[in-house]
Amino acid sequence: MTEAERTGRGLSLEELKGIRNRVRLRKPQRVALHSWAFAQLGDFIVYKAKRAGVPLVFVDPAYTSQTCAECGHVDKRNRVDQGLFICRGCGVVAHADRNASHNIATRGERVWNAGRESRVPATP
Ligand SMILES: [Zn+2]
Repeated sequence: MTEAERTGRGLSLEELKGIRNRVRLRKPQRVALHSWAFAQLGDFIVYKAKRAGVPLVFVDPAYTSQTCAECGHVDKRNRVDQGLFICRGCGVVAHADRNASHNIATRGERVWNAGRESRVPATP
C-alpha cells in the first residue's frame, strides 16, 4: 500500500478466488491473515485503498499464472513449478509470481483505462 501511494499508481488485485496466494505480507501479519476469510481480506484492502486514495480495480484471475507477461502465450506448462515460469512461446524465464503479478497489473490497467469497475473514488 505504501508503495502504491508513493508511486501514485493504482492497485490491481485478483478476484477473491486465490487472493491469498497473491497478497504478500510480512511474516508477523501472515499468521493472522491465514485465519481470515478471503472476503474479509478483500474488504480490508478496499478499506485501506480508500483511506489512502489509491485507485483499486478487481481483475479476472483466470490463467494469470499460465500466461506469459512478455508475449501473452498461454500454456499450463509455462508454469514449471511453484517459483519458476518458462514461456513455451518466446522462451522468457521469469519468477512465477512476478510473471503472474505483471499479468494482473496489465489486466488492471486495461480495466482502469476502460473506465469500468472502479470501486474506489478519486482522492477527495
Ligand atoms: Zn512468452
